[in-house]
Amino acid sequence: MLEDKAPQKTDIASLGEFGLISHLTQYFTITQNSTVKGVGDDCAVLDAKGLKTLVTTDLLVEGIHFNLSYMPLKHLGYKAVMVNLSDVYAMNAEASQITVSIALSNRFPLEAVEELYSGIQLACEKYNVDLVGGDTTSSTKGLLISVTAIGHAEDDKITYRNTAKENDLLVVTGDLGAAYLGFQVLEREKQVFEVDPNNQPDLDEYTYLIERQLKPEARKDIVKILHDLEVVPTSMIDISDGLSSEAIHICQQSKVGCNIYEDKLPLDPQVISTCEEFDLNSTTVALNGGEDYELLFTIAQSDFDKIKGNPHLTVIGHMTDEASGMNLITRGSNQSVPLTAQGWNALLDQNTDS
Ligand code: ADP
Ligand code: MG
Repeated sequence: MLEDKAPQKTDIASLGEFGLISHLTQYFTITQNSTVKGVGDDCAVLDAKGLKTLVTTDLLVEGIHFNLSYMPLKHLGYKAVMVNLSDVYAMNAEASQITVSIALSNRFPLEAVEELYSGIQLACEKYNVDLVGGDTTSSTKGLLISVTAIGHAEDDKITYRNTAKENDLLVVTGDLGAAYLGFQVLEREKQVFEVDPNNQPDLDEYTYLIERQLKPEARKDIVKILHDLEVVPTSMIDISDGLSSEAIHICQQSKVGCNIYEDKLPLDPQVISTCEEFDLNSTTVALNGGEDYELLFTIAQSDFDKIKGNPHLTVIGHMTDEASGMNLITRGSNQSVPLTAQGWNALLDQNTDS
């Protein structure tokens, strides 16, 4: 029988800062034509060849944005890249480079940082982006990871949040609410485990939800689909904080209103069954769940025929004039409920009545 070997724990200090950087980056390759110089000098050098350059950064802090008791380091590395690529795709641009900065407490051995970088590398390979730089330092407590993503696009394809028009259709990719429920399932299992460490969780019926929480995928494919369909959205945003919050961003910045139809919200069957089990309202979860990293965009009505029937895209509503406000049109009763009033508590109350 194979015995479990104690995991090796190499002290990072034994490599030194430069040893660590070259160790971590040695297996990353450069594939983008726009990368002139990657890791190794004072700056990376990029050549966008006439395209506009887009830049976005996210900082993730242990205990605030992630919890390592159920987030494996490899997944964390992957997700840290995804949340940034998602922002680039939300501008209808192609992501081409990232930089990664980390601060580590002495609790992290080399093997832990290797795990983190294996997730980053997987993301780079799968999404065809180059790691071109970063910074490495220590922290007194915990892990911090900051990723910057760089993308490129033709000027007239870049899609902002403030350019939606009245009567445009509101479209969402994929399905909603699964990442939030994945988080709820993991939290519950963690508590069960803390009470009885011999209690092995059976997570089979939640695989999709947990994958959406631990291994989100940014919608690079949508940028290509839109390009192939010759559709340039009139506005776009990625769904990191929940559909409701992102729709409100588009409306407020574009000075329009919207109607979102409850019966159009795309839900995975695992979302529906798990909402029943947890006694949650699936509409609340879809509207406010967050971390889905789907894209929410508006298109001119004249583009509807081009997107009709595409399995990745669901028309969930349309834009109205600003004075009409932002509303959810409820299933069955066709009531118009202001989106701003759909707080978590309001819907939980509604849920206990049903
Ligand atoms: P400087 O002292 O000029 O800031 P560094 O020694 O921090 O340079 O970095 C040397 C090179 O390694 C640079 O190209 C930098 O972008 C890259 N680099 C540093 N830390 C990381 C990291 N964690 N991941 C990827 N590249 C890194
Ligand atoms: Mg530095």
